[in-house]
Amino acid sequence: MKTKVIKISSKEPEKKIIQNATKIIKNGGLVAFPTETVYGLGANAFDAKAVGKIFKAKGRPADNPLIVHVSDKRMLNSVVKEIPLKAIPLMKKFWPGPLTIVFRKKKQIPNVVTAGGDTVAVRMPSHSVAFALIRGAGVPIAAPSANTSTRPSPTEARHVYDDFNGKIPLILDGGKTNIGVESTVLDLTTKIPILLRKGKITKKDIEKVIGSIQVHVKKTKGVVKSPGQKYKHYAPKASLILVRGGIQAVKRIISRYSKKKIFIITFSENKDKYSGVHEIYIFGKKQNTIAAAKNFFSLLRKCDKNGADIIIVEAVIENGVGEALMDRISRAASMIV
Ligand code: AMP
Ligand code: MG
Repeated sequence: MKTKVIKISSKEPEKKIIQNATKIIKNGGLVAFPTETVYGLGANAFDAKAVGKIFKAKGRPADNPLIVHVSDKRMLNSVVKEIPLKAIPLMKKFWPGPLTIVFRKKKQIPNVVTAGGDTVAVRMPSHSVAFALIRGAGVPIAAPSANTSTRPSPTEARHVYDDFNGKIPLILDGGKTNIGVESTVLDLTTKIPILLRKGKITKKDIEKVIGSIQVHVKKTKGVVKSPGQKYKHYAPKASLILVRGGIQAVKRIISRYSKKKIFIITFSENKDKYSGVHEIYIFGKKQNTIAAAKNFFSLLRKCDKNGADIIIVEAVIENGVGEALMDRISRAASMIV
């Protein structure tokens, strides 16, 4: 299959391009598209066969459910059985935007989307291309991140191309995504809401609207609530070492692995502090966790492309999106020092 990459305006998505993309979705095909978080790989959420293609293309385990993307209230109602009271102020405040809410599903949503479960994760994206695509298709779009399973999430169209060239018909290139880490996932089907995945919208942001919630703790035995959390995630090919111990700790790691091809991801303030490494890449300024989140996955892919053996990543400040970013860095890491 030939994979087309089409540039599209994120300010005013060209109608013709959206029409072509929606045609593919309606015919049971896959389209990769930008959202405000990362790129998604979408299919008609009502079409089990089309959704099956997502799992196949990504190599995604069948027990890891997908997020369904909607463009309006009517579409939400076609997907979910009921809307809990707490969802109403949350949707009002954070939709369209990077908050995914887990609801009870309607039977029209095929099991392949929800990994056989009776709940469905839904979000209304704010990115104009994602929004136009869903509205144009007239059906909810099931879409996980558009990366091969376990690889770093895609924040640029060329990341999607690197993973899916020859496997999907169309990638809409809307430029670099704005947030760079995946959406916050909140389960509202339990008595006390549970934060299943951290994102730009933080626990505090949510609690300001609906009062106290719980944070999901990873279980090693028994049934896991969000199956996605079982798997290795976001990982580059090189070994990633997350360093919490500052400049001296980074220097110790550099000397310990001096025979390896070491890449460092650090802040502009520290870039002149290290020597004897292959490349030094910059998150941005230390205080700027927004820039760090935006750049992280892309920098990981750059390290892999340039043949890194070891990637040393300096810990970021855990405020706002920084907390979600540290979650992703920790999951990608093979060692934390
Ligand atoms: P991705 O779209 O690749 O970022 O993955 C979607 C994330 O949402 C994964 O972590 C899933 O486990 C989670 N998710 C999707 N549907 C559900 C659901 N019904 N219940 C809990 N988590 C879900
Ligand atoms: Mg993903």
